[in-house]
Amino acid sequence: MRAVVIHAPRDLRIDGFPDPAPAAGEVRVKIANGGICGSDLHYYHHGGFGTVRIQQPMALGHEISGVVAAVGGGVSQLAPGTRVAVNPSRPCGVCIHCREGMRNQCLDMRFMGSAMRMPHVQGGFREHVTVEAAQAIPIAAKLSLAEAAMAEPLAVCLHAANQAGPLMGRRVLVTGCGPIGALTVLVARYAGAAEIVATDVADAPLAVARALGASRTVNVATEVAALDPWRAGKGTFDVLFEASGNQAALRLALDLLRPGAVIVQLGLGGEMTLPINSIVAKELQLRGTFRFDPEFELALRLMGEGRLDVKPLITASLPFERVVDAFELASDRSKSMKVQLTF
Ligand code: ZN
Repeated sequence: MRAVVIHAPRDLRIDGFPDPAPAAGEVRVKIANGGICGSDLHYYHHGGFGTVRIQQPMALGHEISGVVAAVGGGVSQLAPGTRVAVNPSRPCGVCIHCREGMRNQCLDMRFMGSAMRMPHVQGGFREHVTVEAAQAIPIAAKLSLAEAAMAEPLAVCLHAANQAGPLMGRRVLVTGCGPIGALTVLVARYAGAAEIVATDVADAPLAVARALGASRTVNVATEVAALDPWRAGKGTFDVLFEASGNQAALRLALDLLRPGAVIVQLGLGGEMTLPINSIVAKELQLRGTFRFDPEFELALRLMGEGRLDVKPLITASLPFERVVDAFELASDRSKSMKVQLTF
């Protein structure tokens, strides 16, 4: 079978790839859709991010869905033909963090398409993947396989919302409206936020944020003064979801947050310099958020029940043979939100 393999920055190839039969407890999934994530783009443009670097050829991709093609011994809950989303996360289940209920912090995590460990964990942009049966989650009949491939980024945003605490009636600011920021807008609206203001430096993603439920959007490159009403007093937002990873976005937001507000930092921005006095004096609560755990199945359930509609985010689908075109398109924020490959 064939796979989309990164060899070095800007060196993305379609290679032959091994296709093992499923062992006991495993299933083979014929992949249908694979969403291109910001981390895939980092591997493509820069060979990695931070200290994580490609050191050997690696199949990319961790936002995938497909149809069960074969099941290994002892697998009774899935049959060939079942439509599934593949959970790219495989925690060990036995380390201290797994046992204490923080499986996303697993000491021995195997996450598809990640160069964090050696050998790298191969990703899901392939014609078939063989995974543990527990990683293949059946989807609702009315959910398309394209939508099902959005479960992973949606799960990231549901986990971020859980880090923030209750959003009912809260004023929420979302900085950065790539796919993660935009999905966070969708989640905040579903969770009952009274007001959702979204910012970005480009107009196209802000239009998507409005379609997903933002009550106001502000292009901070051209109309930053439009945020002045929320500076009143010591600031008015209860919760910030920082999804840009940009220091300037976080610094700007600090003046807009009311005392005691919660900051959930989603964007990975390397090192930042922050006015700690402002965080201390306003008793702001800075929280991290990383991947997800039970939120993957929750994402599928909320989409499957029609409670969250992610379709406005999927801006293009290209056959995987055109992967370089797809990665270039996904890199153009004036045209793309989520670009998917089809297999
Ligand atoms: Zn573990």
